Amino acid sequence: PSALAQSSSKVVVAHRGASGYLPEHTLPAKAMAYAMGADYVEQDVVMTKDDQLIVIHDITLERTTDVAEKFPGRSRADGQFYAIDFTLAEILSLNLTEGFSMENGQKQSNYPHRFPVGKSIFKIHTLAQEIEFVQGLNQSTGRDVGIYPEIKSPGFHLAEGKDLGRAVLTVLKQYGYTKKSDKVFVQTFEFDELKRMHDELMPALGIDLKLVALLEGGEGNEWMVSADGMKEIAQYADGVGPEKSMIVDRSSKPGDHKISDLVKLAHANGMQVHPYTFRLDPGQ
Ligand code: CA
Repeated sequence: PSALAQSSSKVVVAHRGASGYLPEHTLPAKAMAYAMGADYVEQDVVMTKDDQLIVIHDITLERTTDVAEKFPGRSRADGQFYAIDFTLAEILSLNLTEGFSMENGQKQSNYPHRFPVGKSIFKIHTLAQEIEFVQGLNQSTGRDVGIYPEIKSPGFHLAEGKDLGRAVLTVLKQYGYTKKSDKVFVQTFEFDELKRMHDELMPALGIDLKLVALLEGGEGNEWMVSADGMKEIAQYADGVGPEKSMIVDRSSKPGDHKISDLVKLAHANGMQVHPYTFRLDPGQ
């Protein structure tokens, strides 16, 4: 009976905050998203060397900060600066900016029409600080905006000796998110971590939150969008978060939409569908 209700009720999730207007995952971007009326504000969560949880999309720092200038020599062999190799104090000393790439020694914005690279001052913050920010706004506005944390690269973190999933769920519990009716979805791309959260981590903490299985196309992932795959995911997740072209093929034209059966399968298995990412950037 829930399928129709699910398909007719929409939520807006602010992807990395109002990231089209302010540098992603900054508190100003979250404030703007909140003020624009988002139902949920998203947090990508990564762990530092000293086991602190920070809100950042990449597990590396160089796309959105001045780490290469402030900490030369601290990259790994692949040339990247991993957040997990830096303490929170070191990370807080960085300046955050709109995402950029280096071209001929110059910082080139990945989205030239967005907030300019290197302008004004923005800082990375912790998951706890962002939860307090959203909960504070909920108190001052009387609204009830939710949070939407993603466990980033949990397998990578575990291999580095860091249990990111357990740490995020622990913070959520500390801030009062304990049951499915609370305004939080916990998301991850890694199905093993989804199962671990469902079967081990949440029971151990005595909490039961809504989980979302993020989906992306590509080799090895086909099973997830099959009828059997969606049935299996539904044993652990309350929803799926597919890349939008997995629902409407990119070759679609007005009046000629090529629509997959993903939404039907998800709803048939009692799951919500939260596709990503809807944005104004050309070609996206
Ligand atoms: Ca995310």
